[in-house]
Amino acid sequence: MPEIFTGSFTQQEPIPEEAIDAAVAVMRSGRLHRYNVADGEAGDVALLEQEFAEAMGARYALATASGGAAIATALRAAGVRAGDAVLTNAFTLAPVPGAIASLGAVPVYVGVTEGLVIDLDHLAQRLDSDAFEGRAKVLLLSHMRGHICDMDRLMAICDIAGVRVIEDCAHTMGAAWRGVPSGRHGVAACYSTQTYKHLNSGEGGFVTSDDSDLMARAVILSGSYMLYERHLAAPGPDAYEAAKYVTPNVSGRMDNLRAAILRPQLRNLSAQCGRWNERYGRVEEGLRDTPGLTLIERPEQERYVGSSIQFLLLDWSDQAIDQVLQRCAARGVELKWFGGAEPTGFTSRYDSWRYAPSEAMPKTDRILESIVDMRLPLTFSLEDCDTLARIIRAEVGAVWQGGTG
Ligand SMILES: *Cc1c(COP(=O)(O)O)cnc(C)c1O
Repeated sequence: MPEIFTGSFTQQEPIPEEAIDAAVAVMRSGRLHRYNVADGEAGDVALLEQEFAEAMGARYALATASGGAAIATALRAAGVRAGDAVLTNAFTLAPVPGAIASLGAVPVYVGVTEGLVIDLDHLAQRLDSDAFEGRAKVLLLSHMRGHICDMDRLMAICDIAGVRVIEDCAHTMGAAWRGVPSGRHGVAACYSTQTYKHLNSGEGGFVTSDDSDLMARAVILSGSYMLYERHLAAPGPDAYEAAKYVTPNVSGRMDNLRAAILRPQLRNLSAQCGRWNERYGRVEEGLRDTPGLTLIERPEQERYVGSSIQFLLLDWSDQAIDQVLQRCAARGVELKWFGGAEPTGFTSRYDSWRYAPSEAMPKTDRILESIVDMRLPLTFSLEDCDTLARIIRAEVGAVWQGGTG
């Protein structure tokens, strides 16, 4: 009998008891709206923002209704307007080009390397093209699946070209590049607290920044009405003078219930990141030197959070990759294929986003077509991770040896 894996890839850990108690207390109070606070009370959202800014090392933080809302808010607060071209990764998740398109702006994709990071040569080439003449120059840099590019080189390229960087840190909350926390290189950073990310409030997100004008606009955009002075991790009242009459209120706030759930989780973030990395390490070890399978070697400057793992089946035929996926699925191992021609479940690729067409990128396509992804929820034990690696290794081997690889 072949070994079968019975764990669930979508089962996260329960919300900690302390967070449940805090949520119940908010519900008992009836004061769920972030600006609905009793005399002398700051409210869980304002406190969470303060704690999150401190944890990420940022001056300011704003909590939002989702990660996608955080990205759209940051882009708009950075001055992106309808018709502007915004550079972003070809390898990312649908809410990223979606946030750009929600402003009427136009995503321009930058290719991916075999290390699963943005192709910096392609970025430099894009910046030389005419599309950016006289327009807001912004790169929405998505640290997709937690892979961080050479941030020193990226910032040098962007600084010279006058490009402002907004970081999508949906998978890098708790990660760092050469000791600098992810999200601290660009003018603003966006995070998600959606269930499958590093903190879980169902839906939610953050924008962080050190720029007071940008943050004042972001606070108003998020739906602060004229209550912005209630924010504890935001600039002082003067910063809003220039923004308050000309910035639309695009309601996308977080509420006290979600914030109450997140505050205890945030205190435990670094321990959780350590647990993800133990699991990542076990799967990585188990897959090492599997013929036909390319692991992503992590640069030593990168401190990552292994909440999912990727490998490449480079230059395999579509049928062979599909066979691996099916054989693994039959043994309970759910793999996602970012390169599938049709968007399914959470995965899609840049040519599925037909509202924002791109010319073909053959080098990037070769890599995208080979990316296989697996979630590593913390409900998996270390032994589970060994089992997963054994099953993948065996099934990749079977298809590879069958000669279809
Ligand atoms: C999850 C995610 C987001 C934001 O998603 P929301 O569901 O809107 O919170 C953005 N970028 C990436 C890469 C993501 O994985």
